Amino acid sequence: MSKYQDIKESAYKANMQLPRLGLVLFTFGNVSAADRSLGVFAIKPSGVPYDELSPDKMVIVDFDGKTVEGSLRPSSDTLTHAVLYKHWETVGGIVHTHSTYATAWAQAQTDIPIFGTTHADHNTVDIPCAPPMDDAMIQGDYEYQTGFQIMNALQARDLSYTEVEMILVGNHAPFTWGKTPDKAVYNSAVLESIAQMAYLTRQIRPDSPRLQDSLIKKHFDRKHGPHSYYGQ
Ligand SMILES: [Zn+2]
Repeated sequence: MSKYQDIKESAYKANMQLPRLGLVLFTFGNVSAADRSLGVFAIKPSGVPYDELSPDKMVIVDFDGKTVEGSLRPSSDTLTHAVLYKHWETVGGIVHTHSTYATAWAQAQTDIPIFGTTHADHNTVDIPCAPPMDDAMIQGDYEYQTGFQIMNALQARDLSYTEVEMILVGNHAPFTWGKTPDKAVYNSAVLESIAQMAYLTRQIRPDSPRLQDSLIKKHFDRKHGPHSYYGQ
């Protein structure tokens, strides 16, 4: 049995959650699962429909994007995952989808404002939208550069990947991450829900105010603070 069996299984299971959660169409989207001690991650192969996936079809890649094990071609977004794993030492799972509402905000190149407590339970800031990539980045090593676009956007806002586990890439779509692949998938579903709620909020009242600071703090702390007591 492959020494990578654990991450192949967890990457497979996490990938299979995407269509179930309504986050992907056809072969769009990918999840990867990292093994930090081995310095590799398992990722979905490129272009294989979800109902034909199996743990054995997952491709093992190192943090430079080089395939280590597997006969299929890894997802076309593999280099973005590799760059983020290489620079973000505590991340164990990464998800990329083109889920409808989050992608709509990305296409509008707009941060998702923090309008309510659902958002505040997970993030204390607007969900950042990285600027669209410039021509040189797109014409160069596009997927590799996408990783840098994500890291640069967080850095420009003085945000850490450990506090904000989701981002939109302008004109493209969302990326989410977490300590485990399951947490990254969870974040992907949460992001889509927040994006949909924020869209509807703006439709109902275009000048809806941001959530007040005291509620942002209250909701985040009760779920994540040292005295967290939240469990719905
Ligand atoms: Zn994409």
